[in-house]
Amino acid sequence: MRTVGVLLCAGASARMGFDKLTTPLCGASPIGRSLDALVQGGVDALVCAVSAATRAAVEALPCPVPRRIVAGGETRQASVHAALRAAADWAGGAPCVAVIHDAARCLVPPALVAACAARAMEQGSGVAAVRVNDTVLREGAAGFATVPREGLWRMQTPQAFRLFDILDAYDRAEGPATDDATLFLRAGHALSLVEGGADNFKLTTPADWARAERLLARCGTGFDTHRLVEGRRLVLGGVTVPFARGLFGHSDADVLAHAVMDALLGAAALPDIGQLFPDTDPAYAGADSMALLRQVVARVAEQGLRVNQLDATVIAERPKLAPYVPAMRENLAAACGVTPGQVGLKATTTEGMNDEGRGLCISAQAVATLL
Ligand code: MG
Repeated sequence: MRTVGVLLCAGASARMGFDKLTTPLCGASPIGRSLDALVQGGVDALVCAVSAATRAAVEALPCPVPRRIVAGGETRQASVHAALRAAADWAGGAPCVAVIHDAARCLVPPALVAACAARAMEQGSGVAAVRVNDTVLREGAAGFATVPREGLWRMQTPQAFRLFDILDAYDRAEGPATDDATLFLRAGHALSLVEGGADNFKLTTPADWARAERLLARCGTGFDTHRLVEGRRLVLGGVTVPFARGLFGHSDADVLAHAVMDALLGAAALPDIGQLFPDTDPAYAGADSMALLRQVVARVAEQGLRVNQLDATVIAERPKLAPYVPAMRENLAAACGVTPGQVGLKATTTEGMNDEGRGLCISAQAVATLL
């Protein structure tokens, strides 16, 4: 039996303050993340219900399965109904499972999509839900009363059903419903629940957005070494440090900036600085590495990502770097568009051991997280 995903991208963002469905969330919009999850979960086709605010973003998303785009309605119910009619048109009367999913639940695991679809094939419905573990109160005119939580479930999506059963339930619906399972039950069908997950939450408030960012944050590391030679300036983190020798390299050889750039590029899964700024390219002869860092931050932003945190260590026997660390931190923070409080920076020696300890080179390590 084939499955058609019904992706709801027509919701407003009343409690978010910005268009939550199309704004990049750690590099991909909630609509893009939900679409990918449905496709990875095995749907054979997609119907996307869109609003005027989301249509262009949905149209621009690559989709490896056949996709139809329909105008959503005033309510979620109206949007689902319109999408189910389009899904029935796609199915052409053949038995089919519809997997209905709110794009705002963009952390949905593909395995949950597949599990709901499989349950619906076997039992007619497969609806994601989680048991209520908290104590629940109802507030009424007489004050609060405890609602026994035994047997209570919180409904999520995906909600999967045999297409013609759920379409019939929508056709016959009297009065509003906030999800599909409600109408399915009203139509007299038996419901089969699939254990959802705590991370399959709906992006509703800015706190939800921040929670999703924490779950999706990306991390990268960077490392670089340059030789110490006579007749060169020593530039670290954009600060010229007074010293008898400097670092050898095609650019200004700012080893700290280079390690930070590779950490950022690594976190974004972009090519490293050797590929972005080749040392065979005369354009980068003597280049200001802090300007290159700003270019890297711009590349990262093009991926829908921003710098969240940096931490770096410079490994040098001499000179003593502590007096220059605050200025380096400020430079790195400014180039990355963050506050100095989001940048950690330390200098260490290797106690006379290793090539850094013998004064042959200076190295730097960095780690970065992106949101
Ligand atoms: Mg380098």
